[in-house]
Parts: sequence; C-alpha cells; structure tokens
Amino acid sequence: MLDHLSFTAPEPKTIAGAKGDWELVIGLEVHAQVASKAKLFSGASTEFGAEPNSNVAFVDCAMPGMLPVVNEFCVAQAVRTGLGLKAAINLVSAFDRKNYFYPDLPQGYQISQLYHPIVGEGEVIVDMAPGIARRVRIERIHIEQDAGKSIHDMDPNMSFVDLNRTGVALMEIVSRPDIRGPEEAAAYVGKLRQIMRYLGTCDGNMQNGNLRADVNVSVCPPGAYEKYIETGDFSHLGTRCEIKNMNSMRFIQQAIDFEARRQIAIIEDGGTVVQETRLYDPDRGETRSMRSKEEAHDYRYFPDPDLLPLEIEQAWVDDIAASMPELPDEKKARFVREMGLSEYDAGVLTADVENANFFEIVAKGRDGKQVANWVINELFGRLNKEGLVIETSPISAAQLGGVIDLIAKGDISGKIAKDLFEILWTEGGDPAEIVEARGMKQVTDLGAIEKVVDEIIAANPAQVEKARQNPKLAGWFVGQVLKATGGKANPAAVNELVAKKLA
Ligand code: ADP
Ligand code: MG
Repeated sequence: MLDHLSFTAPEPKTIAGAKGDWELVIGLEVHAQVASKAKLFSGASTEFGAEPNSNVAFVDCAMPGMLPVVNEFCVAQAVRTGLGLKAAINLVSAFDRKNYFYPDLPQGYQISQLYHPIVGEGEVIVDMAPGIARRVRIERIHIEQDAGKSIHDMDPNMSFVDLNRTGVALMEIVSRPDIRGPEEAAAYVGKLRQIMRYLGTCDGNMQNGNLRADVNVSVCPPGAYEKYIETGDFSHLGTRCEIKNMNSMRFIQQAIDFEARRQIAIIEDGGTVVQETRLYDPDRGETRSMRSKEEAHDYRYFPDPDLLPLEIEQAWVDDIAASMPELPDEKKARFVREMGLSEYDAGVLTADVENANFFEIVAKGRDGKQVANWVINELFGRLNKEGLVIETSPISAAQLGGVIDLIAKGDISGKIAKDLFEILWTEGGDPAEIVEARGMKQVTDLGAIEKVVDEIIAANPAQVEKARQNPKLAGWFVGQVLKATGGKANPAAVNELVAKKLA
C-alpha cells in the first residue's frame, strides 16, 4: 500500500497584485467519455469519426415512445473508475433530467445524476516532483449522457447537426477546490487520465474531446484557504468563475493564469468578481463571459420517470474490485522497490500504461536498471524524436530484450549495441542473427587482440617512448586498437593488454 503521508505538499501558486499577494483556488469538473462500444442508454455504436448521424438509435434521437435501457458495462466502468480513485461506491444512485433546449439535444433534457451520484468521495494524489505531491479530494463521480454536435461552418445559410455523440456515456468527476495552481491543474488532469487509461475506463484522448474539463477558479488572500479547510466554510474563499470545456493541458494552464489575474485586478480596483461561466479564447489568450449567474439556466432537475433508481449489489462491486489492475502509483513504487530504479525513472516508465507494459516484458528475467536505461534513453528518445508511440514502435519488446541479452553475454559492446539498435529500427530482424551474419561480435579472443596491440606498438615507436614516460598516454593506444577492430574488441581486455605491453 502507498503511504499517503510520505510526501510534502507543494507551495500554492502566489500572484503578486498591486496591493498584495494572492493565492489561487481551483476545482475541476472533468468529463471523461466512458470507454464502451455502445452508448449509455442504447445499443448504438460510439465509434469516433463515423459518417454523421450513422450511429443513432431511436432513443438517441428521442423518437416518441422510446425508452432508455441502462448499459450495465458503462455502470461497471464508472464503478471501476470510482474504485481507482479510492472512492465510496453508492449501491443506490438515481438518474435525473436536466432540462434545457439545444439543437444537439433532441430529448430536450440530459439524463444525469444530480442528487444521488453513483460514486462518492475519493482522492487523487498528484505528483509534482519526487517527494512533492498534492492530495486532491474527489467530491463525486456521476454518469450522464453526452450531447450531439451542431455544425455551423459548413454552409453560410444553414446549420447541421451530428447526433453520433448524443447519448454516449460520460463520467463527470468533480474535485473539491484543492488545486492550487495552473501546473497542478494540468497535472491533476494528467493523473486522472493516467489512472483511467490504466483502468481501461476512458481512453483519455483529449483531441477527440473524450476528456475535457470545466475549470473553476477563484483567488483569495494568503491564509484564507487554510481557514476554509479548518472550517469547511466556503465563504473564506473568493467568488469563482467557471471556464467551460477545456480540452488541452496547455490552454487549461493559460486560462487559469489569465483568469486569476483578471479577478485580482477587479478586486484590487474595489470591484467584485461576478460568478459566471466563461470561455477561453486561445488566440487572444483571454477568457470572456459566456453567461452570468443571472442568465444561468434553471434546469428544473427531477428524477427521470423512465428509469428506476440504479441499485447495484456489493458482491458485484467486489467482483470489479477483484479484477482491478495494478495502478500507476503502486506500479511505480514496485519498480523502485523491486528493481532499484530511481523515482524519476520509475515515473517515466509508468506514465503511460502501454509504456509500462512494454518495459515489464523486456525487464522480465533481465537487469531492471539496464533495461530502464535502454527503454528510456534509446527507445523513448527515438520514438519521441520520430513522433511515434510504443504501439507504433518499429522495435518490439523481444527485439530490445535480445539486444540487452547480447550485451549481458559479452557478445557486443554498448557501442555496437547502438549500431544494432539502429539496424533493428530501420531493417528489423533478429538481433542475434544480425550480429552473427554481419560479424558484429565483440572480440574477446585475447590472442586476436594481442596481435593488433603488437602491430600498433611496432608501428609507433615514438609514441611508445612517450607513453613509457607518461602512462596517461596509454589511452592513445587503446583508442587505436578499438579503431582498428571496428569497436569490436572488448575494451577491458584491450586496456589490460596495452598496459602490460607498455610496462
Ligand atoms: P455547481 O454545482 O454550482 O457547479 P459545485 O459546488 O458543485 O458547484 O462546484 C463545482 C466545482 O467548483 C467543484 O469542482 C468545486 O470544487 C469548485 N469550486 C467551488 N467553490 C470554488 C471556489 N471558491 N474556487 C474555486 N473552485 C471552486
Ligand atoms: Mg457545475
């Protein structure tokens, strides 16, 4: 188990205003698309990029008389996510209608869970640096439907609507206002994404909009947040604004920074921050008002009469709990403990579940530290450079393992191994066969190396004279021998022989 007290909380971000210092307080509502082939209340496909309006069941487009049927798998995914965030699972939850009109919402309401969410309080540990982390409390996770997409830029006179996304299951993950700076907010979204990708409950694809966040930002004088934590009284905090629908880590940070400075300027000018919904404009780098609280919708929430309360059994939850994979924090701790990796390396290797799985396959039965070096420096470095990911890596786990075995056996030096890596990257093949076929094997045959050493010593009498007076110059001979053997001579053996001959 993890020791949640073994880290130090980072300092909150402070912004100096004209009249004093201000601290940031941030709470996030993250919408994560449930990884599921079918929608929340229909059997229509959730496939991304399909022909517009091709994945729409009658219930999704709200044909009269159609009734929703809960997709059990989506519910299981929400429970799994809750367990991954160490949260309470509510055995009884219920669906409510959130009423509003929008062309991409044919029902005229969104089915959500306002009063009784399926998941209650949990937590996320957000790592900021080795030993420095923030504990962010989760307030709740509820399940709801996504809306469709209106398209306004296809025709000058008409708007279109694509209902493929309508009715797709979302998890809304609501944090407490425990995030204290822009970097932390991005790291928090990153950690949620990482955990859900480990769990297989959300693919975390932000570009496709499968993970997006509403960002609530307020500012307060130093000390006010601590008072809120002591008393639970929100009045110690400043008035917040909500920045809607952010799907880029970079823009989340920029929007928070702009919004905090905007609020500070208002307060220092003697004004008051108005609670409202805002949008971030990345081109201008600023947030602007979308709607104020006065014009906020009255959603007229009420329990959905088409759906019974959602009752699940503890035994079912226990089954899901029993099938949970190892989570990132635990995997990272195990890599440090069992393989002696540094916190940093273990963090890099476990950042993405696919990377961690690849590393573990290569590390099985091999030296973990050596494998970590190869995976991080050679493989990840190269993948990064070429814009590839582990799934599209030209080198497989078996091939990389083969390279490392050849080094361990003394068949190739580290330098030759890099050449071999290059061959595998561009041409593929079996590492051992390539080394054999292309004569890349390291020469450990002392007789053969000695012959080369003798030749070089014989050809360079002046150098020999100098090296006998100054032993540091022996390195020159070692270099010559390695060069003459195409880097294949075992360096340790060459060093030893050169020293012996010069003595
Ligand atoms: P609503 O349901 O009206 O959107 P909630 O109380 O559920 O409001 O809060 C929504 C989000 O706003 C939560 O993530 C919460 O942590 C965050 N939040 C609440 N108060 C503040 C505040 N003063 N500053 C920043 N974030 C806040
Ligand atoms: Mg809200």
